[in-house]
Amino acid sequence: MSKIMVAGAGGFIGGYLVNELISKGNQVVAVDVKDFSDWYQLNPKAENYVRDLSLLNECLTSTRGVDQVFNLAADMGGMGFIENNKAACMLSVLVNTHLLMACRENSVSRFFFASSACVYNDSKQTTPDNPGLKEEDAYPAMPEDGYGWEKLFSERMCRHFFEDFGIETRVARYHNVYGPLGTWDGGREKAPAALSRKVALAKIHATNKIEIWGDGEQTRSFTFIDDCIKGTLMLMESDIRDPLNIGSDQMVSINQMVDILENIAQVKLSRNYDLTAPKGVRGRNSDNSKISELLGWAPSISLEFGLSKTFKWIYEQIGSNSGSRG
Ligand code: NAD
Repeated sequence: MSKIMVAGAGGFIGGYLVNELISKGNQVVAVDVKDFSDWYQLNPKAENYVRDLSLLNECLTSTRGVDQVFNLAADMGGMGFIENNKAACMLSVLVNTHLLMACRENSVSRFFFASSACVYNDSKQTTPDNPGLKEEDAYPAMPEDGYGWEKLFSERMCRHFFEDFGIETRVARYHNVYGPLGTWDGGREKAPAALSRKVALAKIHATNKIEIWGDGEQTRSFTFIDDCIKGTLMLMESDIRDPLNIGSDQMVSINQMVDILENIAQVKLSRNYDLTAPKGVRGRNSDNSKISELLGWAPSISLEFGLSKTFKWIYEQIGSNSGSRG
């Protein structure tokens, strides 16, 4: 049994990770800056704390007596959020930096950082038919402005904390993680949740219309939360110190994602395209050669399956409360 600290435990991925670590018999210290009422999941078997981990003192307190740290804490959201909050996204550098410093001080042996596909060079993502981003495509560096630069810088910080201080660091580049119990309205939601909500509302109110950001031909791949948690734990337990993609390689356009959701919801909607809305890169997919070769694994849950679970959950949320979260 290990004592493990999860930073960002009140968030989407952090909540699932805490549950999984506890179910495997670990002792978990769960920390997030949000009030408990805003945590997506709160496991009573964890030691739960509301703390601001951008502060070194709070990181020192939170990592005392801990064997491993998972850093999932960041100020983030979908394209609408990261394009309009670049400084806030970059300030997450304080969390990762202070956590690493605290781990060094408290002799924590292993550290995980949640990086992102937003570190990849923009010039490799200019057409919808993206062949898949390989780990080496992050350099020469030209990541997503703001959020992507913070992730790339923090990846390097992890690398140098291993080289200079011997902390075993692991870095996952997540590609669009989605599933139930995440944010689905309020401005930070990503495409799977946003489109699920729009399709659900169109069905409930029988409007037969949907608004899509951009022309809908931009492509992405989407990773279901169960795959993300499995890959994260495999990577943390492995001896792989270089960043690794954790992402599905089932690439779809946003229009194709709406097709899938229409099928799930049993509706047909007329599409209105907002060409002025934030769109992000034109095409992005995960190349999983490296994770397959090194860990003998890659995400496998289909978008159709994952979206049906997500849609159902969001549909129920709309029915049970009309408020917003996240
Ligand atoms: P999330 O927003 O649901 O969770 C992040 C949590 O971090 C939030 O609960 C937030 O309150 C917390 N946090 C922010 N600042 C903090 C601070 N100063 N101290 C303590 N807690 C703080 O996001 P998520 O989807 O669960 O993502 C987790 C991690 O994975 C993030 O680092 C994110 O950048 C990365 N990531 C996520 C995706 C995705 O599609 N969800 C894709 C790529 C990378």
